[in-house]
Amino acid sequence: MTLKRLSLAVLATLLVGAAPARPVADVHAADRIRGHVEFLASDLLEGRDTGSRGHLVAANYVASEFRKLGLKPGGANGSYLLDVPFRRATLAGTPAISVTINGHTTKLVIGKDAAIRPSVTHRQVALNVPLVFVGHGVRDARLGIDDYAGLDVRGKIVVALADSVPGVPTEISAHLQSMQVQTAGAQGAIGLIEVNDAITAGSQVQRFGTRPVVDWVDAAGRSSRGSGAQALVALSSEWTERLFERAPRQLKAIRADAAAGKRVRGFALPASLSVTAASNWQDFTSPEVVGVLPGADPQRAQEHIVLMGHLDHLGLYPDAKPGQDAIYNGALDNAAGVATMIEAAREFAQSGKPPRRSVLFIANTGEEYGLLGANYFASHPTVPAQSIVGLVDLDMPLLLYDFTDVVAFGADHSTTGRAVAAAGASMHIGLAPDPMPQETLFVRSDHYPFVKAGVPAVFLMTGQANGGAQSWRRFLADTYHTVKDDLSQPIRWEAGAKFAELNYRIARNMADADQRPLWYSGDYFGETYAPSQPKAKR
Ligand SMILES: [Zn+2]
Repeated sequence: MTLKRLSLAVLATLLVGAAPARPVADVHAADRIRGHVEFLASDLLEGRDTGSRGHLVAANYVASEFRKLGLKPGGANGSYLLDVPFRRATLAGTPAISVTINGHTTKLVIGKDAAIRPSVTHRQVALNVPLVFVGHGVRDARLGIDDYAGLDVRGKIVVALADSVPGVPTEISAHLQSMQVQTAGAQGAIGLIEVNDAITAGSQVQRFGTRPVVDWVDAAGRSSRGSGAQALVALSSEWTERLFERAPRQLKAIRADAAAGKRVRGFALPASLSVTAASNWQDFTSPEVVGVLPGADPQRAQEHIVLMGHLDHLGLYPDAKPGQDAIYNGALDNAAGVATMIEAAREFAQSGKPPRRSVLFIANTGEEYGLLGANYFASHPTVPAQSIVGLVDLDMPLLLYDFTDVVAFGADHSTTGRAVAAAGASMHIGLAPDPMPQETLFVRSDHYPFVKAGVPAVFLMTGQANGGAQSWRRFLADTYHTVKDDLSQPIRWEAGAKFAELNYRIARNMADADQRPLWYSGDYFGETYAPSQPKAKR
């Protein structure tokens, strides 16, 4: 049928119908979210493990959606994909670890007394080096902490407490602990023994060494944790304590001090460690998917706002018995976040008004192995690093109830919080405080590597109101990171459409505002990672 053959009367009716007097809600958005999630979380994609064929199919699906929306390719070589060079390391044979205390050497039982992580940067490790206790292993000029002051750790293995850092807010403490390996490497240490109850008291020593290590390794031999650490070693609690036997202070007394909030000083231990280990390497690639919507304001189009979510999940459960569900579908973690991103991209592309700043849409890989795809992109961006001025991360929206409030991680740190508040108010969605600060979610999703690159970022969690508290409790206890996070859950697709609309408005606000997002003055992350950027008053 063409318009030419229609009568004038019919044409008049059509034209009146085509010009709605007021905007109406997009009734198809929920169906589109559902369409994306049903494909991405289907059994056919086998849990989208990083490097798997299932993940690659999912990546091509996202690229195809980007093409349909008219986004420009933002990956490598004019494509939507940016291949991340990954390496999976496993131990080759059984390592040998022995400890010498007060001139007396003992060969340790691997998997019981001691273990070493496979290494993605050092295929062969053969060391016999002194040990140095470095307290919590923190160096931070801003906080006035230097656990390495006066200690010579060059070419040695450091022993550091994994407990939270006394006198430091939980979030910053979690950040500092996650930096322990890099901090040790930057001081010239070649290995780390973490004093960590989760490893020793939970008899996880065996698992510490048998679990493969996956990381990206670039052409310069750098990984997400730098390139210095040759030996990440775990010792049983008994052997950890024995390292301190002839030391100035005993471990129990030191930890009691730390637990009481006292700062702990390091010292050379009267002990050394000998380690021989080898790793097998398996190299593979897995892509980031990147689309760009160019900005329309000549003054601001060279700046980028990023909207991202991780596409990878946990793959297949290797120990499933015949007939047992073996697929980690990751419907909410994080097919739902990627679907949200695609629909937010649609709103940008089809709004009839291009954003002032350019917008980058990224589906990350390697998140479940430790934020690896985002980490790689933050350190190897396809646009100038300084041009990334704000970020919205989408990770695991819990679409099991009609959420009426959200928690915005990062909103306290920068003016991104104002964009969230404005968008929330425009949709009658409240902003609630973090209900589980002990989980330190601000340092546990894909925006975090960008925060460490100086980018103000925000990440929304659906809130506790209107059934949220029960839904979250149940989901985290029964479903999170299990094969049950699949399409059999009672997913509320209209909540997905609402979440997409909210995140669109936040990103739109950041892309169109006169001022780029700014860290608040005095904020720890802003002052540490973006010291020369202008700051906003709180
Ligand atoms: Zn996850």
